[in-house]
Amino acid sequence: MKQAIEEATATGTDVIDHDHHGIRQVLQELGIQEINAAYSTGLQWGGESNEQVRSISSPTDGKLIGKVRMATAQDYEQVVTTAQEAFKSWRLVPAPKRGEIVRQIGNKLREYKEPLGKLVSYEMGKILQEGLGEVQEMIDICDFAVGLSRQLHGLTMHSERPAHRMYEQYHPLGLVGIISAFNFPVAVWSWNAMLAAVCGDVSIWKPSEKTPLVAVAVQHIIKDVLAENELPEGIFSVIIGDAEIGGLMAADERVPLVSATGSTRMGKKVGAVVGARLGKALLELGGNNAIILTPHADLDMAIRAVLFGAVGTAGQRCTTTRRLIIHEDVYEDVKQRLLSAYPKLPIGHPLQDGNLVGPLIDTDAVQGFTKALEAVQAEGGTLLTGGQVLSGPGYETGTYVQPALVEAKNEYHTVQEETFAPILYLIKYSGGVENAIELQNGVRQGLSSSIFSLNLRETEAFLSHAGSDCGIANVNIGTSGAEIGGAFGGEKETGGGRESGSDAWRIYMRRQTNTLNFGTQLPLAQGIKFDI
Ligand code: NAD
Repeated sequence: MKQAIEEATATGTDVIDHDHHGIRQVLQELGIQEINAAYSTGLQWGGESNEQVRSISSPTDGKLIGKVRMATAQDYEQVVTTAQEAFKSWRLVPAPKRGEIVRQIGNKLREYKEPLGKLVSYEMGKILQEGLGEVQEMIDICDFAVGLSRQLHGLTMHSERPAHRMYEQYHPLGLVGIISAFNFPVAVWSWNAMLAAVCGDVSIWKPSEKTPLVAVAVQHIIKDVLAENELPEGIFSVIIGDAEIGGLMAADERVPLVSATGSTRMGKKVGAVVGARLGKALLELGGNNAIILTPHADLDMAIRAVLFGAVGTAGQRCTTTRRLIIHEDVYEDVKQRLLSAYPKLPIGHPLQDGNLVGPLIDTDAVQGFTKALEAVQAEGGTLLTGGQVLSGPGYETGTYVQPALVEAKNEYHTVQEETFAPILYLIKYSGGVENAIELQNGVRQGLSSSIFSLNLRETEAFLSHAGSDCGIANVNIGTSGAEIGGAFGGEKETGGGRESGSDAWRIYMRRQTNTLNFGTQLPLAQGIKFDI
């Protein structure tokens, strides 16, 4: 097999050097045992002769899953030109008919939920339940978008002029660039691409360079739908590349909307480049999410939510609970409960039943984890439990860590930053809930927040104008695990974007106000006289 890999590297052909957990079969089911291309415009793959080949190994066991070719600037041009051509016809398809295509995509995803969920889990490292959940989220957004395809409506207004009528309508925008992060490697694409599609846009997806294989798989899954419906090339494209390709998209005036999900560092760069050309940027960036536990919290419920929020996806969700703001009256109780739960967390291969915590995406992320723990202790924080990089059988990759609990202060520099790993900071507060809310809001990020309390005054204060400043504010549920029906996104350094449910669709369209005169006079607005 070693020889096969060497030959493959030389020729650029892709191989899978093992069949642990039936991944070979998964790839076969998904039709991607040969991934010798850098982009796809829907029906065709291209960039087969590019020289830059990247090996993708699983963070779960370090084994090679496959190789992809990295797209060039020339490939990018090809994809954009094809997408521009496709837009000319796709925008003319009636929205409910576009919805019908999305309905078929949803059905295909139902068919492939199991293997795709498994590949998400194996390539990204989240446990299988979460991998399957991610595909379910894709299915849900398809259903949502199908309904939406009959509701892309604007308002009508009364004109101040006689025999005039005013209304607004929403038109397709054009090309939507989608830059996605590794931690939700496929769901974020679907939130964007399915809404964009019913809105009459065409999309170009640049998945994370850390998780390109699931993107290839998705493109294979929807290919049949495109072919069966004789749709043109370029409605859904994928381009495999790193930040450079994302940069081309950000700077490209032919791409009116760039939806970018990832770190705040990335968002600041992309936002600046898109802003400089006055394009639209939908930014979904880092979070630093907190749960407030007041003296009136149902602690049994709260602890379960805290555990899922803090260690689920090994702390690699944008909505991961990173800070726990606990009232002094219940602080010791909460601390003891967590101290008893943390060492019992089943950590291991995410495809193995019973494990709840998988690996971090790579050893760089592990370094980020250990560095943050060192830094917070240097600032005065106390590591209560966890923090080790696991080694020994099953942990040979160096990507598995023991989730950490740290007593800290909100103002510590380390606590103010998002470390994309399972570190939970315990922060004590005293006095009224307003003190807890101040701490919760006292960071630069503003994605998700929650309060556990059975006291109406406390929960309403948390939800009031003077309450949580986040895009998501929950009561008696944790910070992570949002449903697709609501608009998803956050304020401040989280970027201000909203995607998924509610009226998030509006950003994928251009709004037009129309005033019609069906009279015989030409009165001007504001009563202006301009007669010659
Ligand atoms: P990342 O910022 O390293 O990369 C995200 C994507 O941006 C990748 O596709 C990458 O190639 C691209 N990119 C990076 N620099 C770029 C540049 N200068 N120009 C154009 N594209 C560029 O993030 P990551 O490590 O993949 O993901 C983790 C981060 O994503 C965390 O901060 C997390 O909170 C955030 N995230 C946010 C949300 C949300 O909805 N708010 C959702 C998921 C992840």
